[in-house]
Amino acid sequence: MTAYEGFCLKCKTYGPISSPELFTMGNGRKRVGGTCSQEGCTGKISKIIG
Ligand SMILES: [Zn+2]
Repeated sequence: MTAYEGFCLKCKTYGPISSPELFTMGNGRKRVGGTCSQEGCTGKISKIIG
């Protein structure tokens, strides 16, 4: 399984995305979304990957 990383706007940390899910947007681009893996942070991370 590929690990995705992204920037959490809540704790301002760049790190791995916990339980990532892939979405395809209307324009055909892919987006990965999940939650921040920092302990105690519940921030959501969303990143366009292609
Ligand atoms: Zn966070």
